[in-house]
Amino acid sequence: MKKKKIYLSLATMGGDELKYVQEAFDTDWVAPLGPNVDKFEETLSSYLEKEKHIVCLSSGTAAIHLALLQLGVSYGDEVICQSFTFVASANPIKYLGAEPVFVDSEPDTWNMDPNLLEEAIKDRISKTGKKPRAIIFVHLYGMPAKIHEIMAVAQKYDIPVIEDAAEALGSSYDGQQCGTFGYLASLSFNGNKIITTSGGGALICPTKDIADKTKFYATQARDKAPHYQHSEVGFNYRMSNVCAGIGRGQMKMLDTFVERRRAINAYYKDKLKDCPGISFLTAPSEKYAANHWLTCIQIDEATAGFNRKDLLEAMEQHDIETRPLWKPMHLQPVFSANAYYGNGVSESLFEKGLCLPSGSSLSHDDLNEVIAVIKSMYKK
Ligand SMILES: *Cc1c(COP(=O)(O)O)cnc(C)c1O
Repeated sequence: MKKKKIYLSLATMGGDELKYVQEAFDTDWVAPLGPNVDKFEETLSSYLEKEKHIVCLSSGTAAIHLALLQLGVSYGDEVICQSFTFVASANPIKYLGAEPVFVDSEPDTWNMDPNLLEEAIKDRISKTGKKPRAIIFVHLYGMPAKIHEIMAVAQKYDIPVIEDAAEALGSSYDGQQCGTFGYLASLSFNGNKIITTSGGGALICPTKDIADKTKFYATQARDKAPHYQHSEVGFNYRMSNVCAGIGRGQMKMLDTFVERRRAINAYYKDKLKDCPGISFLTAPSEKYAANHWLTCIQIDEATAGFNRKDLLEAMEQHDIETRPLWKPMHLQPVFSANAYYGNGVSESLFEKGLCLPSGSSLSHDDLNEVIAVIKSMYKK
């Protein structure tokens, strides 16, 4: 019998998802918005343990788009964005006719380097005569960024911050949930994230006014009038009541999933600790409580005797899905003309890094198979 494929990060259903989806069907609420959306927003809001207002949307990308829009980003503006990220952090800047300015990572958390951030701000002001309109930083792979240092630079220059917490639901810094630090923050519930709605996202807003405005833009910017009247350009970005039903069920599992992904990370670390040339993305101190959405390793070829491409291919032969780390935005053809401030950290991470299977439903046997393939690399 052919063994089953081991995937990087499959969705895991808890059991109550279908109940809420069924509720949507039973009440004929198969539409954008509805009771599941309201409840999902409430649950998220209480999970974050902060006075925040959540608006569920069709994707995390939509959340970043509406965040930038409400910060007044428009044609000709510049927005600073972490280079080491998934393209969804940067694309919405272009939707508004603005240009991303990319900033490299520091080696501790692999996220935005606060010193390079300040260097970039100063240089943009001197080159363009104006401040960047916003800063987008990311908690990549669920590892909290150097939040306080980043926020301090942002405050010094009075530039609003968008926190891309798409990969970091369940992560916290110094006891405070990721997604509650920035002026605005995005979450993603795409299929491979720590919880899923099949596809979806949310914008975390500081006030009810901003949440209401977000809902306004997400539903075609409809004015208050008995007929359909529009004074501004809007979008069709709200979450469906069916998807939100999945989200409600998933929220009951979130703590279990975070626990599970942390356990997977700890297991890999323990079993691979004697493998020369392999190192892990590791929290710089106990304050950084990562959800370990994906476990990431770096392979130093000189010490290990193989590189990430060799390992990825060996995994493929064993029907195990692994993935290189995100290719930095400043190396992407689509952004080749954009400004970049860096020191080679994310380039090196991309060259040497690999994400290991980390899904919440992986068994010990699955993990042992992955570990065996890594160990076999040393015998070649
Ligand atoms: C997944 C993700 C997003 C948004 O993704 P959607 O697929 O649009 O929900 C944004 N930023 C990062 C870093 C992500 O990983």
